[in-house]
Amino acid sequence: MEIIVFRLGHRLPRDERITTHVCLVARTFGASSIYYSGQKDHSLEKSVSSVVENWGGDFSISHEPSPLKRLKALKKSGFSLVHLTMFGIPVEEQKSALSGLGNAVVIVGGEKVPPEIYELSDYNIAVGSQPHSEVAALAICLDRIMEGKELEREFDSNFKGKIYLEPSEKGKTIKRK
Ligand code: SAM
Repeated sequence: MEIIVFRLGHRLPRDERITTHVCLVARTFGASSIYYSGQKDHSLEKSVSSVVENWGGDFSISHEPSPLKRLKALKKSGFSLVHLTMFGIPVEEQKSALSGLGNAVVIVGGEKVPPEIYELSDYNIAVGSQPHSEVAALAICLDRIMEGKELEREFDSNFKGKIYLEPSEKGKTIKRK
């Protein structure tokens, strides 16, 4: 199973922090890469690459100037398209579809999402039918796709970074390889 996250319509400076958080959640919760459209952001790419270099994992970030074209190609190559939108079908009603998906692209919006994305997507999923955050919606959707495995200690050991944490009841333990 390969999971790709697609962040639509990145805007500078407004989305600097939130797109970084989308990337961090994507990496930590099981995606292997992220595409983002909108404005190209060298600083975003640099900070995500620096996290990967230190904390490990096989995660990459790429800017995509033609999101629809890329999404159509991914769909053609067998990826299911899961679009997160408050207007969609509640995630709890799609739980069984999400847990058996196989290769998937999880799409999060930013500025107004064009209607073609709703049409092209195999699933339009709502994480609660209220407006909130792409970061929260992505985390919950990835958790459902991964069936909770991304929170297990064994999953975390796959990152094999230069630095890693040793969980502790109190305090902070960072280890270096
Ligand atoms: N249109 C506003 C704007 O321009 O800032 C808000 C966009 S909203 C914060 C950004 C993205 O968060 C949405 O496109 C969607 O992917 C995700 N999102 C927000 N609420 C959601 C919900 N209840 N369920 C699923 N996704 C949600």
